[in-house]
Amino acid sequence: MEEKAARVKLGEIERKNLRRRLLRERRKFEKQLEQTDERSIEVLKANPVATSSHIADCIDNGEEEVMEKRRGTLQKCIDKCNQALRRIAEGTYGICCECGDPIPIGRLEAVPQTTLCVPCKNEKNSSIR
Ligand SMILES: [Zn+2]
Repeated sequence: MEEKAARVKLGEIERKNLRRRLLRERRKFEKQLEQTDERSIEVLKANPVATSSHIADCIDNGEEEVMEKRRGTLQKCIDKCNQALRRIAEGTYGICCECGDPIPIGRLEAVPQTTLCVPCKNEKNSSIR
């Protein structure tokens, strides 16, 4: 029984490593988000009379829309990192949200912010489209 628990639960070192990676990932996403915001500010500075409704007109080819999308994606990534960090703190990290099975360590190392095992992830993807 103890052996099974050891297999399900992450080792202290693995957990620490993954936590550090998540913090680094989150920082990276936050930086990208800042840069995306800075681009908007730049446009505003270049066009001091522009109001937020005018920004779209000042940026070429729907760039604002692209940035908005990007911001949304980055915010989601940050949320996922936060969620994973919370799960580490709670001790539920590495357990699939959907089926409750342990997520293989290889997958956690590849995508530390994941909350789904591979079969559940695939199922989710196929249900979206
Ligand atoms: Zn699952």
